[in-house]
Amino acid sequence: TVSVVLYTSDLRVHDHPPLRAALEGAEEVVPVFVRDPAVDRAGFAAPNRLAFLADCLADLDRGLAERGGRLVVREGDTVSEVLDLVRRTEADEVHMAAGVTAFAAAREARLRKALENDGRRLYVHDGVVTVVPPGDVLPQGSDHFAVFTPYHRRWAAEPIRTPLAAPRAVRVPAGVRSAPLPRRAAVADVSPALAVGGESEGRARLGAWLAAHADAYEERHDDLAGDVTSRLSPYLHFGAVSATEAVHRANRRGGAGAAAFVRQLCWRDFHHQVLAARPSAAGADYRPRHDRWRRGADAEADLAAWREGRTGYPVVDAAMRQLAHEGWMHNRGRLLTASFLTKTLRIDWREGARHFLGLLVDGDVANNQLNWQWAAGTGTDTRPNRVLNPVRQARRYDPDGAYVRRWVPELAGLDGPAVHEPWRLVGLDRASLDYPEPLVDLAEALERFRADRGGA
Ligand code: FAD
Repeated sequence: TVSVVLYTSDLRVHDHPPLRAALEGAEEVVPVFVRDPAVDRAGFAAPNRLAFLADCLADLDRGLAERGGRLVVREGDTVSEVLDLVRRTEADEVHMAAGVTAFAAAREARLRKALENDGRRLYVHDGVVTVVPPGDVLPQGSDHFAVFTPYHRRWAAEPIRTPLAAPRAVRVPAGVRSAPLPRRAAVADVSPALAVGGESEGRARLGAWLAAHADAYEERHDDLAGDVTSRLSPYLHFGAVSATEAVHRANRRGGAGAAAFVRQLCWRDFHHQVLAARPSAAGADYRPRHDRWRRGADAEADLAAWREGRTGYPVVDAAMRQLAHEGWMHNRGRLLTASFLTKTLRIDWREGARHFLGLLVDGDVANNQLNWQWAAGTGTDTRPNRVLNPVRQARRYDPDGAYVRRWVPELAGLDGPAVHEPWRLVGLDRASLDYPEPLVDLAEALERFRADRGGA
């Protein structure tokens, strides 16, 4: 007998329940990834993620080959390709991971129907993408948690399954046609310092990070220049690292730093369960507050300055330039640039979310859209009207100015925290800087924001 394993956001061989179930029920399996143009059309594709995806697929193919198998790649509509594959290999079952987006739900429903009409079965496995499946813990009277803290309390008390070892042997039937693996080198417009993708790289990073940085994580995770967070987000996004395994290994290590890291992984599950219950939150306000976003030519110009990292607020510009250069941004940078766009410039969060999704290698509908809504005050933040002051944020999280000097070379000659307020320089010192004046006055911007929200 033959089973098909349809890979989507779970590109690994370790801790992979669909692969395990398929191998238990059949002698041979066909691990397949479908490059579906509908994914690109839905806005999920961007050069950085396509490049990282190519690494992940190549590494998955290697991981399967080490066990005697290989990865089959198809191009086209997922449902048609899988149907073709099950017919050709006479497979009875298809196994895949459950997704949380509206797109994933629609794909799953179509696939289920097509397979059932063909006398075959689809098995959708929970707990592959997230640690706790969306809907497994619920508050009384609602289909999801809208506030993080009570969710975290329940989440932390859930039993988590023991991570599965990688299978020893994977037998793939002979003669299954595969398209070539996509190549990273064939992707244009990739950020110059994009990380290398793949399960091997992700697992190595998890191990090395837990050993070197986990203990200091609680104290140092917000240190912009120190940059000691795990940088596991892209591996988690593509499922090259299992979130369940990351939690398990961090718990085994123990200590306050590891616990703080696990709490961040809970945020990931939290956003996934919000999106699973409210798929519209990918585009519409989760909590509509107002519709007074600035529009028009001035707002467009400010948006362009924000995107390009020339707002005149050094820490904002540094973070935006890190994003362009690495396809990744420190969480503190994401928070303060998002607050700056939505609350200081009063520009629609959807504009910022779109720009991030165009560049972030970990760009993820659940985490990106819902973190943007959190920052904009239209989401799950219980203090939706707090505004992050970029100068205070900079002094606190980049006290010496090293982060700004790393990313804004125009300011590299300024020592210490003076780098955060170049407008304070006088005369020739200021004139010699090739750096823009601040786009807006922070006090005025705050007043306008309060007037808007107050009247909303
Ligand atoms: P670590 O600090 O090492 O945390 C470990 C893991 O926990 C991360 O890899 C991530 O999977 C998870 N995590 C941490 N913080 C959050 C959070 N706030 N929400 C959800 N998961 C979290 N994260 C994404 O994975 N994809 C996105 O598209 C994304 N967009 C964001 C947009 C905005 C405006 C903001 C404020 C945050 C966004 N985040 C997103 C969350 C967070 O910034 C990143 O997950 C984190 O910076 C990744 O770096 P790391 O792996 O070193 O994190």
